[in-house]
Amino acid sequence: ENIFVEIEQEGIVGWGEAAPSKFYHEDTKTVPAALQKLMPLLKTTPFFYEEIQAAAAETVTGNFAAKAALDMAILDWVGKKLNIPVWKLFGLNPQKKQTITSFTIGLDSLDILPQKITEADEYPILKVKLGTSEDYEIISKIRELTPKPLYIDANEGWKFDEALEKVEWLADKNVILIEQPLLAGQHKETLRVREKARVPIIADESVKTWQDILPLTNTFDGINIKLMKCGGLVNALKMVHIARAAGLKVMLGCFIESSLGITAAAQIASLCDYVDLDGSLLVAKDPFQGAVFENGVLSLPDRPGLGVLKNKN
Ligand code: MG
Repeated sequence: ENIFVEIEQEGIVGWGEAAPSKFYHEDTKTVPAALQKLMPLLKTTPFFYEEIQAAAAETVTGNFAAKAALDMAILDWVGKKLNIPVWKLFGLNPQKKQTITSFTIGLDSLDILPQKITEADEYPILKVKLGTSEDYEIISKIRELTPKPLYIDANEGWKFDEALEKVEWLADKNVILIEQPLLAGQHKETLRVREKARVPIIADESVKTWQDILPLTNTFDGINIKLMKCGGLVNALKMVHIARAAGLKVMLGCFIESSLGITAAAQIASLCDYVDLDGSLLVAKDPFQGAVFENGVLSLPDRPGLGVLKNKN
């Protein structure tokens, strides 16, 4: 269950979305409670969004999905007020390079894999969640069915020895990257896994906000930025710049979000090396429309703000 936020000033409405996750201690009760505390920050103009975000960090600890919703609504408002898309406000040119999202193959039984691969036919890059007792079988089966490049996400699911073995085995399976092989705290072990892997090891659960990046620059090859982990686009941009300064790769991910949250994240996709924004593609009834992924290729709306429209239903 996600939560949608509207802010209104001078007759202009900005929209935001929170996708709370129990894993990060948020739910449909904590988000409105946090937003209640953050609301007084909107007494200033939304144009001072850097200042508002800094104050939000001081006012409420954690609650990053709630903060992301507020950040989205503010930037949507600012873009609409200035009559420009947020990506333009950030000085970005989404046309500069083609952005392709990966598409997640769910962890179903092996029997259903052929059907899943067929359903993903349109998407040129597949994301596979491992950390199961059938990892070898899953990948072997996928390799029988398609040669498409794979993003692997172990979701902290491997033990150290297992990870060493699996990264080696995956080396010739057309794998582009491996996300979070070990538990978030296992830095020394992750470094040894990284030394063995021939593809970038990307931090997901290990890196939530910009403060997490610098201590881990030697542990990982890159970071997975998600608006719901870091509190929105203002913080996500900061993370991109810190990561670049530290020589890290940048991946852009998501939770299960509607086209509102996904379109917000997609505003900065042109700054990222790997994009995994399939959240809205997995939603049956999307209340919004915005960014479109045709054959996996992102096109961003040219409309002001986040460029998102409400679906009538
Ligand atoms: Mg992940």
